[in-house]
Amino acid sequence: MAVDRRETIAAIATARGAGGIGIIRLSGPRVPELARHLLGRSPQPRHAHYAHLRDAQGELIDSGLLLYFPAPASFTGEDVLELQLHGSPPVLQRLLRELHRLGARPARAGEFTERAFLNGKLDLVQAEAVADLIAAGSEAAARAAQRSLQGEFSLRVQALVEATIALRVRVEAAIDFADEEIESLAPQALGRALDELDARLEALAQQARQGQRLADGLHVALLGRPNVGKSSLLNALAADERAIVTSRPGTTRDVLRETVRIDGVELTLADTAGLRETCDPIEHEGIRRARAEAGRADLVLLVLGERDEGAEEALPERIDRIVVHNKIDLSGAAARIERREGIEHVYLSAHSGEGLALLKACMAARMQVDAEGSFSARERHVLALARAREELAQARTAHQRLAAPELTAEHLRRVQQALGEITGAFSTEDLLGRIFANFCIGK
Ligand code: GDP
Repeated sequence: MAVDRRETIAAIATARGAGGIGIIRLSGPRVPELARHLLGRSPQPRHAHYAHLRDAQGELIDSGLLLYFPAPASFTGEDVLELQLHGSPPVLQRLLRELHRLGARPARAGEFTERAFLNGKLDLVQAEAVADLIAAGSEAAARAAQRSLQGEFSLRVQALVEATIALRVRVEAAIDFADEEIESLAPQALGRALDELDARLEALAQQARQGQRLADGLHVALLGRPNVGKSSLLNALAADERAIVTSRPGTTRDVLRETVRIDGVELTLADTAGLRETCDPIEHEGIRRARAEAGRADLVLLVLGERDEGAEEALPERIDRIVVHNKIDLSGAAARIERREGIEHVYLSAHSGEGLALLKACMAARMQVDAEGSFSARERHVLALARAREELAQARTAHQRLAAPELTAEHLRRVQQALGEITGAFSTEDLLGRIFANFCIGK
């Protein structure tokens, strides 16, 4: 549904917030008139008025603060009114009904932020960051969302859009002035510029993936030979009995998932089938899935039993890992963390719980390092960046073949379009609907 900005919207922004304060927010052209009606005189902009809010019969509903923000210096860019009241839901509902009677209509989910976007106050990345900031489960995630809201991610995207436009201009010029020798339009120069743009795109794509991880949580896979205690460790971390724990090797055939929170960051733990050679076809499939899971994970917990036999050979080099030496209650080893050749080894017992806190701290530290300087991002952004890179790859191929420069130009146009979708320079109503529907009412 399209937003009709001639309508004035009203909604409860916070019911019973800190100190029992409830906030009702209004936005739209009728706000000045409504504010005058509620206060009994014209409110001063950005000034806290103490107001007695009454119904049509003159009965007092509540007293509280009234703040008026005239357009365009407001969150939505429209005339905005904020009422701070005693946060009881019946009081807020009653006042809201009164506001609706006076001509404001109920706001839809995310409509305040959507109006801010439509009025050019925020781009789409920043609007999404508002929701991410509200949903942030950790300080690191909140900081990342704040950086996106302040425009750090948008600026990076914008810089790439501009670089793409500049390159499009050069490619088009090279078509028009094909007969003249202009150095900056020579195939080698353009080739270098295409390479450079790709490197910048790749760097941003990597940062966006990290930002998405921070918002969505880290994916951790538990890997190791049968019976080393992967399910037990998963249970100990999740303090839940969802994974099947038995003493028979090879029972964890499928991949079980558990979500836990460490330092407020969500971790999805996947318990995988044991790594070992097998003739059992079902188990074989489980092992194949285990390897696939490890390939997708941000972090692998490589679990070893009391005999410390390695299963590392099965793990691709580039995957980030922590080696867990389980069953120290049997081996007699002391609970500790050791760093060997840049890899952390944690000694613990899933049974007694000894050393478990060390593992949690180790995982938490890794998440903090990852969070440093990153901004929040979403799958939508990551996919758009991937699409931009694909188009750029095609532009480079077309350029290298020197076949049709028009083709290079066309792919570059699509690179720009994919980037534009991130900030909302190109957006469809459908996309906006999906993004803002995930917000709460009043935001
Ligand atoms: P998985 O096949 O790697 O998932 O291993 P399980 O979690 O099913 O554990 C295999 C066996 O080792 C079970 O009998 C567990 O009770 C046992 N086990 C797991 N962790 C420990 C531990 O820290 N100490 C001891 N003594 N036994 C453990």
